[in-house]
Amino acid sequence: MSVETGPNDKVSDKATKEAVISVQRWTDKLLTFRTTRAPGYQFVAGQFARLGLMVNGEMVWRAYSITSASGDDFLEYYAIIVPGGAFTTALAQIAEGDPVWVEKLSYGFMTADRFADGSDLWMLATGTGLGPFVSLLQERSTWERFRHLVLVHCVRQADELTYQDKFAALQEQAATLGLPATLHLVRVTTRDTAMTYPDQMHGRITTLLQDGSLERQVGLAIDINSSRLMVCGNPDMITETRELLRQRGLGPCRRNAGGQFITEDYW
Ligand SMILES: Cc1cc2nc3c(=O)[nH]c(=O)nc-3n(C[C@H](O)[C@H](O)[C@H](O)COP(=O)(O)OP(=O)(O)OC[C@H]3O[C@@H](n4cnc5c(N)ncnc54)[C@H](O)[C@@H]3O)c2cc1C
Repeated sequence: MSVETGPNDKVSDKATKEAVISVQRWTDKLLTFRTTRAPGYQFVAGQFARLGLMVNGEMVWRAYSITSASGDDFLEYYAIIVPGGAFTTALAQIAEGDPVWVEKLSYGFMTADRFADGSDLWMLATGTGLGPFVSLLQERSTWERFRHLVLVHCVRQADELTYQDKFAALQEQAATLGLPATLHLVRVTTRDTAMTYPDQMHGRITTLLQDGSLERQVGLAIDINSSRLMVCGNPDMITETRELLRQRGLGPCRRNAGGQFITEDYW
């Protein structure tokens, strides 16, 4: 159910006014929130939408990856509160029933259909760059299209390794349904040196790629024939990763021209 738009609520013909239906706070800086979904609203798993919040009488718009599945009757987003940020300072206070404007069009090319071939999908995320992968992993087609799904989530502290229950449930569901893919979860912390998870890795994604330890841990090599990669989050990590992949002969996906990786910078 969408919130009724009154005459003073109309901020743009390009957006619908939705209502927050739940808020889950993972830490003091990380939250997942769900909103109503307008009838007919379409997106492809991996895409993002622009969300609007009314801040001091003015609309502020920011891009957010959609974490819900394309068939869910709600929309879900995963966000970090940036100190002093115009949008997220308001978002930090969000509660059930609050309005959020959702642009009618969704955007982005980090979708599984960009890859013409390849058997292994590597999803490399820093922080909230996890978002698109939460959606992709909830699509049955992702599990049918690839043989191996490798999700690498790199954060500072172990309590930022979110959505663990969701991933465990998806692994279980895939086994029950006999879906062909295996999901490999790689949890990485950069500052927290403890072992909260038995197989937890430490360091930056780029270091683990460079020294080969990421591939050793997963038991799969990253190569041009089998590997397809999606890289999302911190722009410095993305720039360095792109270079590392290029050195191995992998190239970015371009329209009608093949390619092995897709990237999405969050700022
Ligand atoms: C395509 C796209 C998808 C995005 N999806 C998400 C998402 O799913 N979840 C999400 O939390 N953010 C996402 N972002 C970032 C988001 O749009 C905002 O930039 C962020 O919420 C900060 O807005 P703000 O107005 O509070 O801060 P601003 O004043 O806009 O501050 C921006 C600064 O905050 C920092 N920053 C911005 N985003 C992040 C982040 N995600 N993690 C760490 N530091 C950050 C950077 O230093 C950046 O320069 C996405 C951005 C893009 C371009």
